[in-house]
Amino acid sequence: MSAQASKLEESTEKNTPKNAAKSVVAPPRGKRSFHDEDPLGKAVDMQLMKRLVPFVRPHARSLVLSMILLPVTAVLVTSRPRIMKWGLDQGVLAHDTSVIDKAALVYLVVVVVEYVARFVQMYSMQLAGARAMADLRSTVFRFLQKGKLGFFDDQPVGRLVTRVTNDVDAINELFASGALNAVGDLLSLVLIVVMMTQLEWHLSAIALLTLPILALAANWIRRRARDAFRDIRARTARLNSYMGEQVQGVAVTQAYGREEACQREFDGENEGYREANNRAILYDAMLDAIVEGVSIVCVAMILWFVGFRGAKWGAAVVTFGTFVAFLQYVEQFFVPIRDLTARYTLLQSAMAGAERVFKLLDTPGIEDAPDAKSAGLSVAPTGDTELAVELSGVTFSYKKGTPTLAGVDLVARKGERIAIVGATGAGKSTIASLVLRLYERDGGVIRVLGRDVRDYPRDELRRQFAVVPQDVYLFSGTVASNVAMGEDIDLERVRAALRRIGALEFFEARPGGLEASVGERGGGLSTGERQLVAFARALYRDPPVLVLDEATASVDSDTEARLQTALHAVLENRTSLVIAHRLSTIREADRVVVMHRGRVAETGTHEELLTQDGLYARLYRLQFGREEKPADGE
Ligand code: ADP
Repeated sequence: MSAQASKLEESTEKNTPKNAAKSVVAPPRGKRSFHDEDPLGKAVDMQLMKRLVPFVRPHARSLVLSMILLPVTAVLVTSRPRIMKWGLDQGVLAHDTSVIDKAALVYLVVVVVEYVARFVQMYSMQLAGARAMADLRSTVFRFLQKGKLGFFDDQPVGRLVTRVTNDVDAINELFASGALNAVGDLLSLVLIVVMMTQLEWHLSAIALLTLPILALAANWIRRRARDAFRDIRARTARLNSYMGEQVQGVAVTQAYGREEACQREFDGENEGYREANNRAILYDAMLDAIVEGVSIVCVAMILWFVGFRGAKWGAAVVTFGTFVAFLQYVEQFFVPIRDLTARYTLLQSAMAGAERVFKLLDTPGIEDAPDAKSAGLSVAPTGDTELAVELSGVTFSYKKGTPTLAGVDLVARKGERIAIVGATGAGKSTIASLVLRLYERDGGVIRVLGRDVRDYPRDELRRQFAVVPQDVYLFSGTVASNVAMGEDIDLERVRAALRRIGALEFFEARPGGLEASVGERGGGLSTGERQLVAFARALYRDPPVLVLDEATASVDSDTEARLQTALHAVLENRTSLVIAHRLSTIREADRVVVMHRGRVAETGTHEELLTQDGLYARLYRLQFGREEKPADGE
């Protein structure tokens, strides 16, 4: 961790109000570090700005237009006091109405052109920004979609959501609030100073004297504001993570009566967020107040100076027109200064957002290992194509040092039904994940239909499989859209799939039929019904290999019968790897593979294994012994 980063940690620590720590319950340590954000590096970073370029480039035309208009508005703005002076000195004071008319007309034209230019300038800037940020959001989403599953294991959902939404919004402030207009501000400032000095250098000196004071104040505030903004970003992510987790787990929270405790935890997060926001607002207000205060003092000093010199030498040293124009310049002088400081804070907020977004995009090793032939070229099978699935000497570990699979050999010939059994944690599901290449094996070979899984383009590999997990995930949509899984919904095929598993009538009889809406996580459907949808999903796809993690949850006997019918329909004429929990499934399997601590302990049919009287026989007696007794006489 860099020195700067640890400083940031310190300052975040320091800024946490003591009363917040007292009045709320801090989340447990493990949870806190899970939701916590990593501290980040530099504040304004040209590297980060450069990384935004590819997103902005396609919209460069709007941006260039906007930038061209900046000097135009700056010139128009600074010409206004000059016109005023002309009108006053040569028109009003000289009693020349024609000059007054002309000055008024020119002033009007300048103001109108200035506002039109300003509108176009802001609009095109925001347009470019909104489009660039949409592209960035899309990039982050694409990146996450392709991410290794291992990456998601320790990422709270809310944090990732924050990256795509709030953090990108923060970057958008660069455009929306015109932080890039700082260029225009600087230009205006220079122009104004030139104009002022030309007009009257004594008075200009007074105005310029205020600059160091403002610079010191801005610098002091700047650093604190940066920390506050980073804190806001980090705490937004934590708040979202906590919310995400709590919404997912609300049923458990309620079942264990933890509502109050969770509320207190949430209040803790909320308090931290509010406090960080307060700090940002405070610094913003301070900056505004300081600039405003200094500008008032500056005007007072100029008035005093003009009056004092006038009184001392008995005559005004400046004409009335010059004086009015000068006061206008002083007013104008503080506008870009105020804007510049405000934009600087926004820039910092944007940088804090950009840091987080790009840090996510930079996560090492998150992108999936490339397909060996990712160009989409099919590689000829190197193994036996009669083997649908073949694992040979496969090793794998989720975390370094704790092997999950330690040399697994397993073969499923075309059309075979393989039941994988074993105690919880033996590595059954891991095998399924590796075959689908959801995780990358460490050693050994995994072949599907004779081809190494690494030689497949990923989507082609996954087209060979239908997966029915234990805990079926349904997306928000309808029953039909969930069966079709996002592909163009072919209602006839959906019907056919449901008919084959014998559940068409059942679903059609439900209110809404196949168009009945299904909430996120399958709200509205029972566990058994969700499984039926998952079976239909598998048939809709109709792939050569089925990977099924049989549900352990017990369902009523009606649903059970329905599920059995569905299961048979899905397994028919298909190679299948079934992580089996039901005795009937195991018995009907062509082969049973018994997993024990990451290894294949035994292989054979149910009867063979029982005769062997080894691990399987023990497992069998433990698990099915009791339910088997009445059927002994079979
Ligand atoms: P089974 O399906 O036989 O119950 P799994 O294949 O799910 O077993 O898990 C095997 C081992 O790997 C277990 O010890 C489990 O804790 C661990 N494991 C499973 N998934 C992960 C994961 N995503 N990250 C880390 N460890 C995991």
